[in-house]
Amino acid sequence: MTSDELSRPIDVVSLYPNDMNIYGDWGNVLTIERRLTLYGFQPRVHAYNQGDAWPEHVDIILGGGGQDTGQEKISDDLFKRADTLRGLASQGVPMLMICGLYQLFGDYFDTVDGNRLPGIGILGVYTEGQEHRMIGNLTESSDQFGSIVGYENHSGQTFLRDGVQALGTVEHEGTGNNGVDHTEGARVGNVIGTYMHGSLLPKNPKISDFLIRTAVTSRYGEFKPTGNAEQRAQLEHIDAIATKAAKVVMT
Ligand code: GLN
Repeated sequence: MTSDELSRPIDVVSLYPNDMNIYGDWGNVLTIERRLTLYGFQPRVHAYNQGDAWPEHVDIILGGGGQDTGQEKISDDLFKRADTLRGLASQGVPMLMICGLYQLFGDYFDTVDGNRLPGIGILGVYTEGQEHRMIGNLTESSDQFGSIVGYENHSGQTFLRDGVQALGTVEHEGTGNNGVDHTEGARVGNVIGTYMHGSLLPKNPKISDFLIRTAVTSRYGEFKPTGNAEQRAQLEHIDAIATKAAKVVMT
């Protein structure tokens, strides 16, 4: 057995945390790190910012939101990495892109100031900025994950291209992709884009587990947690807190 098979590392890339990381999005990285540890894996978090070397191995990619200015700042570098990211997406690497990076994983984002920020086209969506910001709690229902709760704050209205699947349907509270068709987020293969900040993953363990299971199965052939009883109890405790937090938003 190699040392990797013994320690079971999982390589998690955080995309542009210096500029794309608002409204608690770093919590997504911490959540994946913590859950991987509790399942008996060894998380290795790689913070990737403009100009950095690309990590040798990538199992999960997490990206956050940002101001329009932050999106402009990372745009050139994102295009340098576009082929790599497209290749990883087509290999089934699980990715979660929040708000600003969700928009840039689509076809383009026309900002409210009239700038067009091109996207890398992994998710079949496009985004038009408007003066009115969509801000507040956001709740939706999704076929795969059930209820999802979070918080949105964006000026961009996102529209899905024909045949592109939404992550969920806005229910109860919030605007979602555009305030017109009740869709929220997008899902293409194992890549999820969403407007959910808050952070998303601490409140929605099913999505964390989808990312983790997909990554682990792809790297090690199966998902076999080796956490001990104490670690399992901690996971149950964390999930109970998440359920309570979700209920607060849903009522
Ligand atoms: N700047 C983008 C917008 O306003 C994204 C905002 C965000 O990531 N919260 O639509």
